[in-house]
Amino acid sequence: MQYWNPFAERLSREKISKIQLKNIKKLLRHAKQNTPFYKERYTDIQPEDIRSMADVKNLPLIDKEDLRTAQENQNPFPFGKMQGVPFEAVTTFRQTSGTTGRPVYVPESYESWQWRVEVWCHILWMAGFRETDTVFVPFGYNVYVAYWEGHYAAEKLGCMVVPGGALDTKGRINKMLEVKATASLNTPTYGIHMAETATKMGIDPKDIGIKRMLCAGEPLPQATRQRLEETWGAEVYDHIGGTEPCAWGAMCRERKGLHIMEPYFLVEILDMETLDREVDEGELGVAVVTPLGRRSFPLVRFNTKDIVRKGSNGCPCGRTSMMISEVAGRADDLRKIRGVLFTPVSVEEVLRKEFPMVTEYEVVVEKKGILDEISLTVEPVEEMGVEAAAALSSRINERLKVKTNLRFNIAFTKPGELPRYTLKAKRFKDLREM
Ligand SMILES: [Zn+2]
Repeated sequence: MQYWNPFAERLSREKISKIQLKNIKKLLRHAKQNTPFYKERYTDIQPEDIRSMADVKNLPLIDKEDLRTAQENQNPFPFGKMQGVPFEAVTTFRQTSGTTGRPVYVPESYESWQWRVEVWCHILWMAGFRETDTVFVPFGYNVYVAYWEGHYAAEKLGCMVVPGGALDTKGRINKMLEVKATASLNTPTYGIHMAETATKMGIDPKDIGIKRMLCAGEPLPQATRQRLEETWGAEVYDHIGGTEPCAWGAMCRERKGLHIMEPYFLVEILDMETLDREVDEGELGVAVVTPLGRRSFPLVRFNTKDIVRKGSNGCPCGRTSMMISEVAGRADDLRKIRGVLFTPVSVEEVLRKEFPMVTEYEVVVEKKGILDEISLTVEPVEEMGVEAAAALSSRINERLKVKTNLRFNIAFTKPGELPRYTLKAKRFKDLREM
């Protein structure tokens, strides 16, 4: 069977819109009755007045900062004004990683959690996960959401799930061999690191037997995805989402862009500057997401700050949902350097695609006098002589100049010197405001 839910995945555009509108009205009614945040925010808005998608698109946007303010020192503890169901109904505590500030606490009722798990069943099924798979998850999931959702959804699909949290990387590789793992959930960075470690252990990562890998946690540029596919001899899939809105887009087996998980979500891709106009196909915009089936933490028009390129409707796989053709990065990571707009993902694209001898890297931006200086530290597979390093350095600089329009000061480290990350990699540091 190709689809997890043949009905939901092949609805006409018109039906998708109808279901979305019906569900957003229900969500608004619930939010205004039960969630102090919306009681205050929607004083002038009556859910009955929302009659069309155009009305929905006039509702105010919310972002992470709004959620923080609604929780910090607010009752009831710990979810504050964002709590959408009575505390007795909350069965699960999750939180954001807090990399950009105070973490957001997210309550899930049993029902809301099952809704998230069902969305994840779509994601895994679409990536070819089946009941015959043994799925290895090489992380301790702690209070973060992603791997818990994947874990529960893989179980619901009927896969055998093997959690590998308390082991080190070597232990995890041995465990994958021991249980004959066929699939895994991973981060792009850790997928590369595991392959490196396996090779050092004398094991070709292709011989481990992983056939499909679903990545989470970090942007996955095309070049990195292809590198992972080659290294592991596996199909590698991307998805997009977050703790607050859930995962709302994922790749099908065509692996050309991501399907938006309609009709479970209403996703708008808005002009980055003005936030008041939906972009056209092929344009970049910021994703604004409304998860339509969650009551414990209702979100209406949440600005994810994910920058994506709007794709077409329709895909050879037969699903009818709207697509995004590229995840370009996070609005938080967009920087102006010497007047040029820069996203750190562009460096990753160049290095992973064209320089297989580079295993790790780090980008630091600093202010020297009145000028911005960008340094790129590169870690090669093997130690390099002065001449080889100089030649490589000038080639990298040329390619980066073409891609980013910026010049980098390039330095080399010894193999293994740069930090390795398990969850969120921090390869980009902007020290200008410190
Ligand atoms: Zn498709």
